Amino acid sequence: MPSFFIHTFGCQSNKSDSERIAGDYFARGYTEAKDWHECDELVINTCAVRQRAEDKAEGFLYNVTEHFKQSAQPQPKIILTGCMVHHGNQKLLERLPEVDEILPINEVGFNQAAIRKDKKHAWIPISTGCNSFCTYCIVPYSRGREKSRSKEEIMQEVKNLADQGYEEITLLGMNVNSWGLEKVGIGFRKMMMENKDFNREDLPDNQSQYLAPQGTPPFVKLLQDISQFDQIKMIRFMSSNPWDFHDELIEEIGRNKKIDRYVHLPIQSGSNEVLYRMNRGYTRERYIEVVDKLKKADPEIVIGTDIVVGFAGETEAEFQETVDLAKQMDWHVGFVAIYSPRPGTAGWKIYPDNIPHHVKKKRWEILDQIINKDNLQIRPKVV
Ligand code: SF4
Repeated sequence: MPSFFIHTFGCQSNKSDSERIAGDYFARGYTEAKDWHECDELVINTCAVRQRAEDKAEGFLYNVTEHFKQSAQPQPKIILTGCMVHHGNQKLLERLPEVDEILPINEVGFNQAAIRKDKKHAWIPISTGCNSFCTYCIVPYSRGREKSRSKEEIMQEVKNLADQGYEEITLLGMNVNSWGLEKVGIGFRKMMMENKDFNREDLPDNQSQYLAPQGTPPFVKLLQDISQFDQIKMIRFMSSNPWDFHDELIEEIGRNKKIDRYVHLPIQSGSNEVLYRMNRGYTRERYIEVVDKLKKADPEIVIGTDIVVGFAGETEAEFQETVDLAKQMDWHVGFVAIYSPRPGTAGWKIYPDNIPHHVKKKRWEILDQIINKDNLQIRPKVV
């Protein structure tokens, strides 16, 4: 029987995608090799969140091809997938001739049965892609438009997992709390979705592009329905965004103790001007309001966050606004990332990457020290 091996870089969405790619291989009669030295087909599931992430995937590819040049064994068929496909299939095949095939990540699909190694906790993708077009982010280009998975499919998967004895699930989506809203996008987001030309002036005011849904948000309804399974004891979800963190969701988290008390809520910057340039769609004040409401809903709730330092044009004063916020927020953990312009994104097109690396690194150290000093075991590494 032919064999496969999947080497996965990056975030939980990639790990979840790899579980489904494995399911597809098993369905086609393949076996899983112990490692890449022994497989017939090697899938490299890549991350493109920063240049360094792409460099890592290319470094791995180099090691694989060098190994087989010096080996009696033939090189496996190499398939590249994940967020690096934003470069375009043809360009990637020209740049990396060792790659035999590109698998666009938005073709992995929801329905292939995931092969899970963890028998207690399961990742469940509920949406894919993203329509938000934060100006620094490659995801809307690599994973395409936001698409919600049908509720029937999600509930069936939860039921199957509960029947198999799973107790913990994490619902996954790039903008998980907008599940079921099928946003068409307005303003700048609409222009980006339609691939129109744009200028800096086209960026809208913070919060003007996100309208509250009518009635109970579908994501809240989904959480309530999943909570009905007695076997499921813990529900987590990621990644949430402040613009879709409506009051009904906050009330549900407060009331429903099956939902984890840790809430991950990216801020990205404490400066409204930087948030505007990032097209994040909320203000510092709105973020604080959401966190205050969460803590009021249940004082046991703890918050984690993501922050980008050294975004294009980030002045010392703008950075200090993030520092002040970090001192005020009592975040449980902060994943601080150094800005790396991603070719093709709006930020790359309209803002020069003008903060020297040593300044970005210093800013990273300052924030990491403030937010993560008591969390050494989960402290993210500087890149
Ligand atoms: S919400 Fe923004 S940061 Fe998150 S995936 Fe979408 S574009 Fe990227």
